[in-house]
Formats: sequence, C-alpha cells, structure tokens
Amino acid sequence: MFGSVAWAGFWAFAAIEVNALAATGLANVDGEALNFSPHDFRRIFVTDAIMNGLPPHIAQVICGHRHIDTTMGYKVVYPAETIEAHRAFITRRRASRPSEEYRTPTEEKWGAFLAYFERRKVSIGTCARAFGIPCVHEHACVRCSLLRPEPAQRARLVGIRDNLIARIAEAEREGWIGEVEGLRVSLAGAEEKLAQLDAAQDGRSSKAFL
Ligand code: SF4
Repeated sequence: MFGSVAWAGFWAFAAIEVNALAATGLANVDGEALNFSPHDFRRIFVTDAIMNGLPPHIAQVICGHRHIDTTMGYKVVYPAETIEAHRAFITRRRASRPSEEYRTPTEEKWGAFLAYFERRKVSIGTCARAFGIPCVHEHACVRCSLLRPEPAQRARLVGIRDNLIARIAEAEREGWIGEVEGLRVSLAGAEEKLAQLDAAQDGRSSKAFL
C-alpha cells in the first residue's frame, strides 16, 4: 500500500491521466468505465524516482512498503549498475588484449570455420571435438566418447550393434581371436551410445509430465 505523503504532484499527474482515460470511453469486460488509482502508477513512480536519484530506502518510506525488496520489485528497469559493471569489464578486457586479436577474419578463414562444423557430421550423430583439432581417434566414432549420437539414427545404431554381435560370434567360431577384442570394444561403444540416447529420451519424457 502507498502512503499518502508526497503524492500531491503525482495525484495531479494521475488526475490528468484519469481525465484522458474518461475521454477515450474505454470500458472493462463488464462494461464499466476504466479508472486509474495511484496504485496503478507505482511502477512508474518508483522507477522514475530511483532513476532520478531518490535513494531506494526513501522511496520505500514514501510508498509505505514494509520491505525494501517490495520497493525494488517496482523498479522495472534492468539494474544500471549491472550494465555499467559489464561495460567496465569489456573495456578492461579490450585494454588487456592486443588489438590484432580483433581483426576481421578473411573470407578464406571464415569459410574454413563454417566448413569445419559441416565436416563434424557423421552418420550416427555429431562429432563434438573442438574447432581446429583433427580426429585423433581414427574416425572410430562408435567407440569415441566425443560422438553425440542423433536420436533419429537410433535404428542405424541398433543395426551396427547387431552386426557387431554377429561378427563377434563369427570371429569366435572361425578362430579369429585377434579380431574379437577390437569388436568387443566397438560393441561396448555402440551399447553405451544406445544407453545415452535412451537416457536422453527418458529425460525428455519425464520433463513432459512436469
Ligand atoms: S572418432 Fe571421435 S573425434 Fe573422431 S570423428 Fe569420430 S567422434 Fe569425432
């Protein structure tokens, strides 16, 4: 609730607004004429007062608020001090870095940057290795922890897993023992990727019920 002190000027403003509103003939959903009260101007008042230098605790007293948080809740602008602090940070950072770092990339470099992200797409998902770093895992994506599997490619991943199981059985049957170990590592990778997809799907399903 607002106190009655220091509202004279604001009342004059409100009276003008009320007259303007009456002239519009606007009505609420029940057909009653719209009306303003001082309380309707609390955000304008608190914001304008504080932004023009009135200390927040004085605004609190004027408004009759028990807690300062209530008053500050009506100050409906992003805290200027936050913006100022961020600008100061950017200025300091620019001052501490050589200006060459801010040069515009050439067309060639920009093209290489964009092409890099296209080259990270693989059949069962996306490679998440950092920009400019070559694959150090011999493109064995099924085994690689940097692969982010794509839900749409789950059937393909199941096919790879089943094929690995069949190849392990064949290798054991034929006595190709040297191949079994590597196939098992790939099988563990495929199963891990499937579990990753299922866990993500379960997470999405449970969020849908929140
Ligand atoms: S093996 Fe790993 S790092 Fe290499 S392309 Fe596949 S996901 Fe990327």
